[in-house]
Amino acid sequence: MESSSSILKELTLESVKADIYSRNNPTLTPIDIEFYATTVHRILELKKKHNAVILGHNYMEPLVFGLSEQGEQGDSLGLSMSAVQTDSEFIIFNGVRFMAETAKILNPNKRVLIADKTAGCSLADDFRAEDVRILKEQYPGVPVMIYINSYADAKAECDVCCTSANAEQIAMSMPGDELIFVPDLYFAQNLEKVLEDKKKILYPGKNNSAKGAVCEVHEKFSLEDIISIRKSFKINKEDPNRMMYVHWECKPEVLQEADYYGSTTQIRNDIAHRVASGNLEKAFIASECELTSNLMEEFPSVEFATACSVRCNHMAKISLNKIQPILEAIDSGDDLSQWEVKLSEETIKRASNPIERMLSLSF
Ligand code: SF4
Repeated sequence: MESSSSILKELTLESVKADIYSRNNPTLTPIDIEFYATTVHRILELKKKHNAVILGHNYMEPLVFGLSEQGEQGDSLGLSMSAVQTDSEFIIFNGVRFMAETAKILNPNKRVLIADKTAGCSLADDFRAEDVRILKEQYPGVPVMIYINSYADAKAECDVCCTSANAEQIAMSMPGDELIFVPDLYFAQNLEKVLEDKKKILYPGKNNSAKGAVCEVHEKFSLEDIISIRKSFKINKEDPNRMMYVHWECKPEVLQEADYYGSTTQIRNDIAHRVASGNLEKAFIASECELTSNLMEEFPSVEFATACSVRCNHMAKISLNKIQPILEAIDSGDDLSQWEVKLSEETIKRASNPIERMLSLSF
């Protein structure tokens, strides 16, 4: 995909429009492009003027995703790591609040801003630090691994953090035969199955009174949906040119039906690998629908089936019209507190321990 870096060489309204049209994204109609081009142009102009970094999660709608250059796009951890490498004072995080928090924990001296602080996540919103304490009391001495989709106060109670890309590896790196995993109940059951005979996975609600959570988007996919999509889009199991991709956060029976399961980045990389070898004709991704919209643009040779009723309402809160005022406020020197992520020094210190431990085990 052509990134906005090419626009930045010559940033006019016409060059911005030409760039968006050239992306040939099937989800972007001329009506949308003409309607939003002025806003995109203004955002990119101010981004350049103030050397701001705009990080874009894969689940952002294409016009928002396109505000980020290639090195600024990715999953939550990749984006936070990109933030560490920047010398920019302002980091605008186009994702949900727990992701902006992670960026702040890893970049305590930078100003991290999010277009809508109410952009939550059912996994993070429905899980409390108190539930970690319940589990630690019930299973003394057993290490606790927490999914990155959680808030800083819950992370602060845990031994190590993980993402969907490294959960297996981090779990196996932790000492002992048992591991507590929070908060995602489906992810926990999927991990339990994959690590069977290697490590016992304990999680909320399994013989304990702690309460876990699920992703309200990925849980929408049922086994029947996957079987019916296979039939209607002719994504046959034995055909290596047709792939059914499933995200870790889906139900166990859905994961078992996948041709490939993994994190957002792993799924994207598998598609890239197959496209490079000329081996991918059709694909369906059981995940957030704008991920597919962005991959359609990146891999035009692949025919993707989509289910755009499966949209994350939290991610959808981040829109062009809410991003522009942040940059206008930076430009005029106005107060940024309505967008700025603030965490106490103590929380940053405690929540950074499990994240740093994950990073030391990952690289
Ligand atoms: S897709 Fe699911 S895990 Fe991701 S932000 Fe939305 S609710 Fe949270």
